[in-house]
Amino acid sequence: MFLKGMLVHACKSCGSHLTAKRFLISKDYRGKYGKAHLYKKAVNILEGKREKRSMTTGVHIIKELKCAICEKYVGWKYIVAYEKDQKFKEGKFILEKTLFKKLDKSIE
Ligand SMILES: [Zn+2]
Repeated sequence: MFLKGMLVHACKSCGSHLTAKRFLISKDYRGKYGKAHLYKKAVNILEGKREKRSMTTGVHIIKELKCAICEKYVGWKYIVAYEKDQKFKEGKFILEKTLFKKLDKSIE
């Protein structure tokens, strides 16, 4: 699957399209490997098992995400957030900044 439009964010190891700048909600997240971004949509993704994880913002049920093509870890999806002020994250995707690259089609 390919995303149309400018500024696609792709898997760093295989180049598969994962998401795009227009789906970005926030850059203010932290992943396992440093900075991470929150998106409302992602494609070419494999979802792992449900896991309970304690974070600075409370306990969440998440699923780890892998690139569907090369199967490398890329981030996680929020399934359930227990804190009311964190509910907006449910169904959203975290992608680790060091694990994707930005493809700017306007300069290709
Ligand atoms: Zn990949």
